Amino acid sequence: NKSAYHRDTWAEIDLQAIKHNVVEMKNHLNNKEVFAVVKADAYGHGEKEVAEAALNAGASRLAVAVFDEALRLREHFPEVPILVMGWTAPQYVRLAAQNNITLTAFQTEWVNQAKSYLKGEPLSIHLKVDTGMGRIGIRSVEEAYDVIRACDNTSIKITGVFTHFATADESDLLYYQQQLGAFKQWLKQVKPHLPDDLTVHIGNSAAAMRFPDDMYDGVRFGISMYGLYPSPTVKGEQPIKLKPAFSLYSRLIHVKKVHKGDAISYGATYKAQDEEWIGTIPIGYGDGWIRKLQDFSALVDGNKCPIVGRICMDQSMIKLNRPYELGTKVTLIGEDQNAFVSMDDAAEHLETINYEIPCILGQRIPRFYI
Ligand code: PLP
Repeated sequence: NKSAYHRDTWAEIDLQAIKHNVVEMKNHLNNKEVFAVVKADAYGHGEKEVAEAALNAGASRLAVAVFDEALRLREHFPEVPILVMGWTAPQYVRLAAQNNITLTAFQTEWVNQAKSYLKGEPLSIHLKVDTGMGRIGIRSVEEAYDVIRACDNTSIKITGVFTHFATADESDLLYYQQQLGAFKQWLKQVKPHLPDDLTVHIGNSAAAMRFPDDMYDGVRFGISMYGLYPSPTVKGEQPIKLKPAFSLYSRLIHVKKVHKGDAISYGATYKAQDEEWIGTIPIGYGDGWIRKLQDFSALVDGNKCPIVGRICMDQSMIKLNRPYELGTKVTLIGEDQNAFVSMDDAAEHLETINYEIPCILGQRIPRFYI
């Protein structure tokens, strides 16, 4: 573990919020299955802790992107179904089978290679269909028949099928409807050739929140399990009330008065307009608090304090509204006395999506669970 526990910068992950979001989704779906999507270290929140909270709240499976994530989780959760949603090299199928990990398949050639690595161990796979995302997945009924035939008389069993939406979070629903329609058509033709106990799952957070009745057997609940809406459109609609789980804090490690014209940080780009109080906080781009966050604000005692001057690798400076004691708490993401700096605010400042922010906040920031 590479976290810096002896430096005053940390994240707090509210596991009650994760549980709340899972329960809300479960109710919203009339008890369809919720797969907790915990790839990329649970979107930066911590895979083991989030997985446990989600499972306790009613999620019935875990979904990850890469096989190593699944293997790590298997050590902590011996019985829970785990799905790897990305591509896994065929030489690892035996290890997957031995660990009861479900892989995603969408290539006949992959199945043929996988067969040669298995010695009778049952391997469960979910078939991925590309209905318009254009990333991975089979794109026709014929391709599906090919893959199904390749699995015949092997120990590989197709236990699920799924697809992924490209625009389920947008206000224009035409493309979503087209993908849904394409999936329905495809499934109608392919389903008779698949086992009766097949699990069908098509929805991400956006689709699950907005179109619960379209969701077949379950949903892959990612961003909104963490309490974030997938887009401003969905945030506006608030199909369910989410509680954000991630807060980021630091403390003032230096406070000083500067005079008009005094410069702050590399490049001396910021010059004090007047007498000003400047605080230094121990977080920088080496933590994923990237340089583009200059001019973004942090909260001190409920006051918005702008980040001034260039963000350094390990430290940043903020302009304070008055002198504060050393050690005063600084809220970079979260709530402070009814003032908020949200993940969405940071994403907007960075012209990106909220998904990216907790993912890039690095390992040097310890995650504490509350
Ligand atoms: N399903 C797949 C295949 C994904 O790649 C992802 C994440 O991007 C998800 C589900 C979860 O999506 P979201 O975080 O929007 O809920």
